[in-house]
Amino acid sequence: MADKKAFPLEKVRNFGIMAHIDGGKTTTSERILYYSGKNYKIGEVHDGAATMDFMVQEQERGITIQSAATCVQWGAYRLSLIDTPGHVDFTAEVERSLRVLDGAVALYCAVGGVQPQSEQVWRQSEKYKVPKIAFVNKMDRIGANFYSVMDQMKNQLGANPVPVVLPIGAGETFDGIIDLIKMKAIRYDMKSLGKNMTEEEIPADMVEKAKEYRQKMVESAAEQDDALMEKFFAGEELTVDEIKGALRKGCMARTITPAFCGSAFKDKGVQQLLDGVCDYLPSPIDAGAAVSADDPSQKREPSDNEPFCGLAFKIMSDKAMGKITFVRVYSGTLKLGGELLDSTINQEQRISRLFRMHANKQEALEEAHAGDIVACVGLTQTRTGDTLCDPEHPITLESIDFPAPVISVAVKPQSRQDNEKLGAALHALAMEDPTFVVTFDQETSETIIAGMGELYLEVIVDRLKREFNVACDVGAPQVAYRETITTSVENEYKHVKQSGGRGQYAHVCLKLEPQEPGKGFEFVNEIKGGVIPTEYIPAVEKGVRKALESGPLAGFPVVDVKATVYFGSYHEVDSNEFAFVTCAMQCFKQGFLKAKPQLLEPMMDVEVAVPETYMGAANGSINQRRGRVEGMEDRAGVKLIKATVPLGEMFGYSNAIRTVTQGRGTFTMIFKQYEAVPKNIAQEVIEKRIKEGKVRASAD
Ligand code: GDP
Repeated sequence: MADKKAFPLEKVRNFGIMAHIDGGKTTTSERILYYSGKNYKIGEVHDGAATMDFMVQEQERGITIQSAATCVQWGAYRLSLIDTPGHVDFTAEVERSLRVLDGAVALYCAVGGVQPQSEQVWRQSEKYKVPKIAFVNKMDRIGANFYSVMDQMKNQLGANPVPVVLPIGAGETFDGIIDLIKMKAIRYDMKSLGKNMTEEEIPADMVEKAKEYRQKMVESAAEQDDALMEKFFAGEELTVDEIKGALRKGCMARTITPAFCGSAFKDKGVQQLLDGVCDYLPSPIDAGAAVSADDPSQKREPSDNEPFCGLAFKIMSDKAMGKITFVRVYSGTLKLGGELLDSTINQEQRISRLFRMHANKQEALEEAHAGDIVACVGLTQTRTGDTLCDPEHPITLESIDFPAPVISVAVKPQSRQDNEKLGAALHALAMEDPTFVVTFDQETSETIIAGMGELYLEVIVDRLKREFNVACDVGAPQVAYRETITTSVENEYKHVKQSGGRGQYAHVCLKLEPQEPGKGFEFVNEIKGGVIPTEYIPAVEKGVRKALESGPLAGFPVVDVKATVYFGSYHEVDSNEFAFVTCAMQCFKQGFLKAKPQLLEPMMDVEVAVPETYMGAANGSINQRRGRVEGMEDRAGVKLIKATVPLGEMFGYSNAIRTVTQGRGTFTMIFKQYEAVPKNIAQEVIEKRIKEGKVRASAD
């Protein structure tokens, strides 16, 4: 039952499929499970029977939200397929899976091509330096065009796709693929759902094209290696191993993207894609050592001989087992029951059960090895992004980079019982996902949940109901504004209270300075000669940090400010921690209002796709919403308008764009950056907040 011996690491592939919604990722994943023999019955997505999509909402919405890791065997290889979501609202899910996979398949629809959201995911994967191969799916659809997707990859992604197969036919005539390495046509036996294949001669009308593309492929391979380049120019044939080896090298250096095609739905091309995963994507050895976040000289090589270290990248709650934590093991051996340290929170943890997950069953393990992706039970405190390691050899890996939430809603439990369960349920959900933030608004007694998008919050509310049995009423979505300052000020504040016996005394001088956007908050202590005793400095910082939570302007979080405490005084008897916390908080608030404060709003990258006749209407709809049109492109027969628009103006846009384009227009949006809100609008927002009791008219 348990794996005593490590699987040869060079034969392990940890990979994910990155795709736009509806590109066919779920169908392709299903076929992978089918061909690799773990899953005998193919469940079609539209039946809602897909094995990877555990969660009910996903099946209903037809989108994949969760990142499950599924293990399959392909020839001599062990593949772990890490599920990545297609919807950009779930950026955190994408980021976390990209962080732990070694390579990825970029999947595109042969008709839709490279869509706006695929660009976003591509960029994210480049950030993590993830090598990729491409799969152009849905070759059976009318209008399918492999070559045009290759061009889009070049033009829109700046990629260098190198076809290693070509489609035979397209749309209804799509009938197999040409393997450019073997120079054979591959056809599929439909009775075995494409499992059985035959190799045939290339059809006469495709011989020229196949030669042309093979030449291009060989040239790209030769470019990766000087010795091969010489051989190539000398007119010698490169061997299969040489071509594959060089393409693999290029793929891992991310100078080329080997490209495949097929139709998952019609059972063609997926097996060649799987061979491609083995041939071109990196093994954990190629992916290299895991590096400490604090000290880059501290490393853990991908080997069982190193001390254990791993990253918790996904937490799920399971009815039977409770909290399941998915861990990518980078080095050493993770043992059932053995002691381990969560070095991010500095707490010892213990694993009570350990599994390798297959799509529909769990394989119990006693230990996991370098390169493994496993599910653990018993890690009660561990959060997503935490490092787990050998307590004798601590190391903390870089945590996963999560964006701040841009949108929030108030949730109100429907009954007392719901109210009692709400806290625990939200806590569990927040453990799973660091981009999901829960706050309690003291002023209005409301629970506020915030995340990366409207759809995301809908899913959370849905899960509250289904998984935790908590029914909630949900308020209108609110924009997550921020507050900051635009000039530097120095401010002095004295907190003095004399009430009968012992009084309170604190005196703080703060310098507040604006920081570059995105730099966050910084606290600096420049107190000299102990005018504020060292023991009270943490209280000053605490007071300032408290003030950041609810900005003086409109009660929104304060960002990008540097606060330096440079002077003050204390009283032998009356000074205490509380007095300094209160004083620093007031000092900050007062200073903040003097430093030309500004409200910031999330700006979204919006792409609107419309037929040409509706261009005017679509442009108008952007301008009306305080949007800036940044550019215009032709794409797949429609006009694509690229614009930057405040999130606050985008609520209800899907209806609006449908109305002005008679149902023909569609749009996507993703968070871009925070920008200053125009004065008149800021004033409206502030007044509304004052009316709602979320901020006092002016801080004293
Ligand atoms: P996902 O959102 O990327 O997971 O995509 P799905 O696998 O759910 O597929 C979306 C839709 O496209 C479903 O209706 C599938 O049946 C269909 N689909 C998937 N692959 C193909 C394909 O190769 N050809 C055609 N014609 N349809 C496909």
